[in-house]
This record gives sequence, C-alpha cells and structure tokens, in this order.
Amino acid sequence: MYASRLPYDSTRIRAAAVYCSDGRIGEHFDDFLQNCLKLPRYDRVALPGGPACLAAHPEAHLEEQGVVDELKFLVEVHELRQIVLIAHQGCAFYTNRLGLTEPRLALVQKADLVRAAAFVHRVTGLDRIDAYFARLESDARSVQFDQVTV
Ligand SMILES: [Zn+2]
Repeated sequence: MYASRLPYDSTRIRAAAVYCSDGRIGEHFDDFLQNCLKLPRYDRVALPGGPACLAAHPEAHLEEQGVVDELKFLVEVHELRQIVLIAHQGCAFYTNRLGLTEPRLALVQKADLVRAAAFVHRVTGLDRIDAYFARLESDARSVQFDQVTV
C-alpha cells in the first residue's frame, strides 16, 4: 500500500487544460500550467494528440465527441472559466494517425490550435481560451511554451 503525503486542497481553480497524453512531457505541462500560468490543481483532459481532436480531423471524430462531452461536464460541474490548449512538437498523433511530417507538421498543429479554440468557444460558451505550442529547445534541455494567438 502507498499513502501520498502531498497536501490536498479541495478548492477548484476553475481551469482545465487539454493536452497530449505523451508521458515524456507530462511533467513539463504541469510545470508550465502550475508555475507559469499559476493554475494549481487545474483539471486535466489528456489524450493522444490533445487538442488535435478538436480541429475537425475525420480521423479523430470519436475522440472529438468524447472530449466535447468531458469539457461540457467540467464547465457545468466544476464551473470552468478557462481552458488551455497545448500541442507539442513532433506529436505522434500527427505523425502516425494523420501522416504528417515536418515542416508542415508544426504549421498544421498551430492552425489546429486556432481551429480548436474557436470550436471549444462554440461548444462551451467560454471566452477565456488560450493556446500554446510546446517545443524542445535545440539543446534538448528544456521545453519552450510559445503562445499561439487564437
Ligand atoms: Zn503527442
């Protein structure tokens, strides 16, 4: 058995993030959202490709329905006011499922963030939707989060 000794805070931050489930950058997402955006205890919606499923790709139609349902639930029950969308460089969802390669890959991902933000606004009614693109710095020692204007 294991008992986590991390402190528990029951108050909600009323923000959620939609990002890729790739475990190699999960802690970077946490670091960025908690320490840069100041969103401790944010709600997590993680799945392969993250917000890619909200950009109207037919290959992700089933995921789209699921994520829209989850976001509507969180808006209603957790009283979300803010949603953060994050795509990441070299995402396997794009390379494998959609068959894209660089340099077009990153361009499609950023365009998808804009499209996903508009879609999330439409289905949730929230105005505060931000988008970021996470990329590995050339020295591979840090992950940079660039804001994408939506
Ligand atoms: Zn990914």
